[in-house]
Amino acid sequence: MKKVRTTEFWADGRYLGPGRVYSNPRLGNSEFPFGIIYVCPRCGDAWGKVRVSLTRFYPRARMCTEHGGGFLMPFDTSFFEFPRAMLKREISLIVSYEGDYDIALLTGGAA
Ligand SMILES: [Zn+2]
Repeated sequence: MKKVRTTEFWADGRYLGPGRVYSNPRLGNSEFPFGIIYVCPRCGDAWGKVRVSLTRFYPRARMCTEHGGGFLMPFDTSFFEFPRAMLKREISLIVSYEGDYDIALLTGGAA
């Protein structure tokens, strides 16, 4: 039986609202992903945060909006229900990005 926890999203100092995350047996004993603090490897700004209730935060390198990234979309999205404001922000970033949308933007990649 699936369990559920609350998750919350912030980017660029703005709260984007609560969502849900469902348990996933592939994640081992914890069953839930950890919270994330996104840190830009270029400027060092801790620009984004994904909280998962009852878990710790772990830092992850990912470019901020100013340096060609800024995407909050985490891990395996199939276990999440995202808040509307967060999805609107992701879509507007994809639409505004001038280059090809590239997985490197999500993985913190080069450049
Ligand atoms: Zn940056």
